[in-house]
Amino acid sequence: MARTLISNALIFDGTGAAPVKGGVLVEGNVIAAVGEVEAGGVDQVFDAGGRFVMPGMVEGHAHLSFENVTATEDLITPTPEAQAFTAARGARALIEAGFTSAYGASEAKLGLGVAVREEVNAGRLPGPRIRAGGLEISVTGAMGDEGRLHNPRIGPSTIVDGPEDMRRAVRLQCREGIDNIKLDVSGDPFYPGTPGHTTPMSFEEVDMAVRTAHAYGRRVNAHTRSIEGSKHCVRAGVDAIFHVEYSDEELLDMLEEARDRIFVVPTVGLFHQIMAGEAAPFGLPAEVGGYMNIPELLENSCKTHTELRKRGVRHLIGGDYGFAWSPQGTQGRDIEFFIDYYGYDPASALVCATANGGLAMMGDGSLGTLQPGKLADLIVVDVNPLDDLRVLQGPDKIRLVVKDGQLCKNALAEVGTSMLVEVMQ
Ligand SMILES: [Zn+2]
Repeated sequence: MARTLISNALIFDGTGAAPVKGGVLVEGNVIAAVGEVEAGGVDQVFDAGGRFVMPGMVEGHAHLSFENVTATEDLITPTPEAQAFTAARGARALIEAGFTSAYGASEAKLGLGVAVREEVNAGRLPGPRIRAGGLEISVTGAMGDEGRLHNPRIGPSTIVDGPEDMRRAVRLQCREGIDNIKLDVSGDPFYPGTPGHTTPMSFEEVDMAVRTAHAYGRRVNAHTRSIEGSKHCVRAGVDAIFHVEYSDEELLDMLEEARDRIFVVPTVGLFHQIMAGEAAPFGLPAEVGGYMNIPELLENSCKTHTELRKRGVRHLIGGDYGFAWSPQGTQGRDIEFFIDYYGYDPASALVCATANGGLAMMGDGSLGTLQPGKLADLIVVDVNPLDDLRVLQGPDKIRLVVKDGQLCKNALAEVGTSMLVEVMQ
């Protein structure tokens, strides 16, 4: 079994404990030792040159096939063949930026996440571990239903009405290899007919989706901004809920009670970017965000997720990147947003980006921390992110990426002081 040592590092293990100096020994695809590690008997040594080593990050709401998106037209019009390349580029951008896992939300076409997952797993494409999302499932007249009687339109969501329709749609996605089913439970500010506080999908539909997907061993995740929608999800046993801006005391209590089984992904990046004017060059200025009620959603997001943080609910970073103003690989910005909007301290925000994500990817706790026996997904970063979080906001400062014990990126040679040392056995 190949033994690789990353030596001379400052190690953040993902548990939230203070970083320690030392090395990380990887044996096959697992971590064998952390801290004071003997260099004898290893096949290769990477001298980290005092750099920061941490678990690989997890994008908690991935849209691999989103690239330069400014409208749903950009998801619907391109062919699946063209979008397969887009999704492959998305996977590569994530791994280069230190994301060793992508917990799928949805894709522009049903099979894109599955196709890329298979290529990455076979070692033919660079990319993270992928739990593949499919097409979003919505209901008539809600988010993702852009058809009209006089003007039918397919996409961006699959439309179902009633539990039987839902059962069929979920089974079909399971058949096609989807890991993560996504429901559009609440409305959305991009669909004026059903704004974020509305709940077009019924409890019976959500419940059927969960029972069906779980029977196939798959997960169900939900777009939900409304109080009622989020309650539907918790009651039905949805595995991860996205956005979750509005809340009342009962919902907060329900989430606290479910905190050992549910994950919550605030996806605050998109609203921040719109209100900060970052989307303005692409036709979505902050003023339009105002008409869309985004400031009010953002205010509620701060209230709800600050409270959920205090109650120990597991947050994941990421979500809704891949727009024209938010390229794939910049998801690490969410770590800073978690601090600014929800009151996280830097180490706890890093835990959301790593350990929490690992638990979402693999429920058995085998992923997400640098501890002996855990799967070897780790990155080497130029600067300690606890001092400067900007180093995790793109690929430039990510020097080394290891996923499942395999070297996925090595840019250590570009920085003079560090080098790869081949060790004779
Ligand atoms: Zn999304």
